[in-house]
Amino acid sequence: MPRTYYIATMGCQMNEYDSDYVGRLLQEACYLPADAPEAADLVLINTCAVREKSEQKAFSLLGRMLSLKKRRPGMILGMMGCVAQKRGRTLLERYPDLDLVLGTRELNRFSEILQELEKGEGGLAATELSREPAPTVIKKGFFKGRVKGFITIMEGCNNFCTYCVVPYVRGREVSRAPHEIMREAKYLVEEGVKEITLLGQNVNSYFHHQEQKTGFVDLLRMLHRLEDLRRIRFTTSHPKDLTPELIRSFDEMEKLCSYIHLPFQAGSNRVLRAMNRGYTREKYLDLIEQLRGNRADMAVSSDVMVGFPGETLEDFEQTLDLIEKVQFDGLYSFKYSDREGTRAAGFTNKIPEPEKIERLAELQKLQKSVTFERNEKMIGKVVEVLIEGASRKNDQITGRTSNNKIVNFSYNNSIIGNFIKVRIMSACANSLRGEIPCVTD
Ligand code: SAH
Ligand code: SF4
Repeated sequence: MPRTYYIATMGCQMNEYDSDYVGRLLQEACYLPADAPEAADLVLINTCAVREKSEQKAFSLLGRMLSLKKRRPGMILGMMGCVAQKRGRTLLERYPDLDLVLGTRELNRFSEILQELEKGEGGLAATELSREPAPTVIKKGFFKGRVKGFITIMEGCNNFCTYCVVPYVRGREVSRAPHEIMREAKYLVEEGVKEITLLGQNVNSYFHHQEQKTGFVDLLRMLHRLEDLRRIRFTTSHPKDLTPELIRSFDEMEKLCSYIHLPFQAGSNRVLRAMNRGYTREKYLDLIEQLRGNRADMAVSSDVMVGFPGETLEDFEQTLDLIEKVQFDGLYSFKYSDREGTRAAGFTNKIPEPEKIERLAELQKLQKSVTFERNEKMIGKVVEVLIEGASRKNDQITGRTSNNKIVNFSYNNSIIGNFIKVRIMSACANSLRGEIPCVTD
């Protein structure tokens, strides 16, 4: 009987990438993916520590998996990701039935650790953070059948925004060697991937000192030359590192998608300063104008927080005002929560929870109508859609436009992986409905 695995992933795209990578290593070791933890011999929980709520979710799932393990004693249970990194070995002391704690920079050691686990070793912890990201072991066949691919180009962050735990749990910023990124990109393209997203906490500060001093735009140019690659995306960008050269790249490189995720966090200069973000609202608005000036169809999404310590009602109004001015296509919004070890956790002027809840609701109500209006603006346009698969709704096909809008329409599965021109007929809250006027390729 082949052994089976299940990985529960929480948090960001970086975590999704890491789960995918570990999953591929498990498949190499002859494990098959299971549909549910109840059917798996090995269960991994890939966790996020960015907000208090995400950490609570990780522990509540761990509780459920520990009681599952009581009923299935042979099961191997591990925790990975930012909570694993943050808590380290102490997790093993608190939860003796946990077999593995795998840190954020130790994924390359997973195959070796797996052999130990299979021998019946439990209580293993690998949480070294100073390591350089090791070369990822990408083998032929890893990406077969995929339309979209992801490549981590850098790890960690040096920005130390005062609220953020990432520099502590993902370590200092390290950029991967360009030749390795290109090797991985070539594999992806050879196996049929049409769209690559470059991942990192702050991709536009990518810089590799050794190999001809490669910066982020140089890397984009190298990828742009890959013939069968049709689309390039990247996330996340930091406004303070969004250079004029990168903005011009949208003019220069047609494969760069008309979409950017550019977190602004707060609309008030006072709060931005307290957050140590390194830009002003005026600078942010100017960047958006330049980006949209270069590409009329440019979509912008962002992250924002409410209730940062000391955020007054006037500060909050400034955040709402910025949302109205920018007209984001999508917005991820959060209530500020204290993260142990960060500077903001020690700030005294905390905002009461009910106030944060109220501000968040008001902000989300505003953004809901902005998102819908932005979607409505697409009606009547004929856009190129990369078909990703069958939609969750029956007999619908789903894909994305260059500016990252989800488009659903009726057709059969035969066009998955192709670029199709679709006419947008109507807008929904988070997606568009379309019709095919003609097939292009
Ligand atoms: N590297 C990215 C984001 C990393 S964390 C960037 O610089 O923007 C993802 C998002 O979580 C952040 O953009 C922020 O909006 C939110 N976040 C981070 N720390 C938080 C905290 N302590 N409380 C609430 N939200 C937080
Ligand atoms: Fe956190 Fe700021 Fe780094 Fe983003 S840029 S990961 S918010 S410290």
